[in-house]
Amino acid sequence: MDVINLVRDEIKKLIPYDANQVECRIKLDANESPYDMPDVIKTEVSKIFTDNTGINLYPDTDSTELREALSRKWGIDKDMFVVGNGSDQIIQILTNTFIGKGDKVICPSPSFSMYGLSARINGAETIDYKMKEENDFKFDENEFIELCIKNNPKVIYICNPNNPTGGFIQVATVRKIVGACQNSIVVVDEAYNEFVNASCVDLLKDYKNLVILRTFSKAFGLAGVRCGYSIASLEISDFFNRVRPPYNLNSLTQRICTITLKYQDLIDEYIGRINTDRNSLYESLLKVNSIKVYKTYANFFLIKVNNTAEVFQSLLKDGILVRNYGNASDLKDFLRISVGNKEQNEALIRSLNKALL
Ligand code: PMP
Repeated sequence: MDVINLVRDEIKKLIPYDANQVECRIKLDANESPYDMPDVIKTEVSKIFTDNTGINLYPDTDSTELREALSRKWGIDKDMFVVGNGSDQIIQILTNTFIGKGDKVICPSPSFSMYGLSARINGAETIDYKMKEENDFKFDENEFIELCIKNNPKVIYICNPNNPTGGFIQVATVRKIVGACQNSIVVVDEAYNEFVNASCVDLLKDYKNLVILRTFSKAFGLAGVRCGYSIASLEISDFFNRVRPPYNLNSLTQRICTITLKYQDLIDEYIGRINTDRNSLYESLLKVNSIKVYKTYANFFLIKVNNTAEVFQSLLKDGILVRNYGNASDLKDFLRISVGNKEQNEALIRSLNKALL
């Protein structure tokens, strides 16, 4: 028997997500926080293992304590939150809830590839809204709305700020889009929104077709524990819960995220530091020879470089890993670089200057 004959057609042609695992000294490829968990949080988290761990039992399948903490943070009903194993899992749940064979999904491009990948796994047709390099990857809401209305998609994705361009769409503009596309689910992925602090959550009061995605992986510095969540109407959240696998968030992640939310002030301090360092890094990048730097509202920069492969390798030789999109990609002339801590950013600039002499 040839296994391939049993695999669904959609899967046979799938190009997988590229999570490259390369040894390095300074990791600036995945938009993670450069900061380890603050000591007070570590101390509290370590109590999980000295008190009764409860680890022999399945976790709370509804992550109630964590959703209650999120409800307090946002001032929104806890039943409007669905938490998952990274916002990646929420994207999967959302896809399985709304998207089937032949449905259309609008994805901005370039943007986070999991929107399209997940939709294609379910046999959907993905339509890219191309933000063009010649327009500095500008997002034009009128063009976007026109594309959406013309195609009548089931789901429309917006990434705000956008990975990898760093661009940001004002809340009023998102309101216009959500209002104009009321026959579609509009997903606003706010994975990097802490760095601009302008969420679209308030729009949930007015629109039932809106889903907001957030994550603990970036500003909260918890990429390793895998936790993301959606905020949406009670009706949508109820459907997500039917699709969500049981026990989808392990008990350690539930506890760690709940504890971390108590220390929002410490997280805010990190965010402030990252934003300050981002602004200095921008100034330094502008002075580097023969690269183009795009303005960013997130914790990473997209840069255009003539010889990406050589620059990437040269940085790696110095122990610095950045995101390289490869020759087959629309972004083959670009690198994406996370904002690190001060020392990491300085090392990056030294190494870039050396590579681009
Ligand atoms: N959305 C965007 C825009 C991202 O860049 C990422 C991670 N790279 C995710 C969602 C997924 O994040 P996580 O699964 O870690 O929550």
